[in-house]
Amino acid sequence: MFNLANVPRTENVFELDKVSFKYNSTLILRNISLKIPQGRITGILGPNGSGKTTLLKILSGINKPSQGSVFLYNRLLETYSRKDLAKQIAFLEQNNSVSSPFTVREVVEMGRYPWLKPLSSLKARDKEIVNYALQCFDLTAKQDQTIGTMSGGEKQLVSLARAMAQEPQILILDEPTTYLDIGHQSMVMEYLYKWHKEWKTTIIMVIHDLNMLSQYCDHLIVLDNGVFVKDGVREEVLCKELITKTYKANFSVIKHPDSGVPQFLPYFNGRS
Ligand code: ADP
Repeated sequence: MFNLANVPRTENVFELDKVSFKYNSTLILRNISLKIPQGRITGILGPNGSGKTTLLKILSGINKPSQGSVFLYNRLLETYSRKDLAKQIAFLEQNNSVSSPFTVREVVEMGRYPWLKPLSSLKARDKEIVNYALQCFDLTAKQDQTIGTMSGGEKQLVSLARAMAQEPQILILDEPTTYLDIGHQSMVMEYLYKWHKEWKTTIIMVIHDLNMLSQYCDHLIVLDNGVFVKDGVREEVLCKELITKTYKANFSVIKHPDSGVPQFLPYFNGRS
């Protein structure tokens, strides 16, 4: 259903060249150069305060680098209009809370705004996409419910459905599973994975849960204290030595019994 004909076929969606970022005079990101591959799921990890959210805001065009350049599809990010960026990128910020007076359907319809001409209403194709997004996130039966009456997990699904209705090539997510119970965490991740597989959408996300990152991401980037530490495929990055050093904590690493990917267990001192 989605129109992917206009997706530029570049190897990388983003390229950062010596990017630094300051809040007031405090340097938060230092001289970061990295590439984010197209059509993959990239996970960004690192301790609290290492600059992950700041980096996501740079990728989505909210934060402008103090130094260095950001390229989207080989073109300087700053040369895209807001509307053109919204056609390419959907960004779900941390703890995003969708406003309460609206119904589920109205919120999901907001995802179509970048595609509408000024003052025009939703056309048949827009409605078709909204219906599809509602269906994908099991929200069809709840489409007339007011957002304010929904649980945190349900609101998260509504935000994801709105992002899907936006038809982005790139989906950027800041801790999409925080505050969700393990069942909802797993459900959200499975929905995202299905979306990624079906539409080849590039996903870039910050999640604290290393085990989730390991299950779902095929490319990983490690930040520590505003500095790029390493990137690479799962096995290169999610290894005991690097994770222990980055988080300054001890772990046991085991293989997931179903998928075989590395899983991290916090070190247990034991009770005698
Ligand atoms: P992470 O996502 O890795 O936890 P953040 O990018 O949120 O890290 O924050 C990196 C640093 O920037 C932290 O020290 C944080 O306190 C600081 N910071 C974040 N937002 C602001 C802001 N709006 N003004 C000033 N400092 C900020």
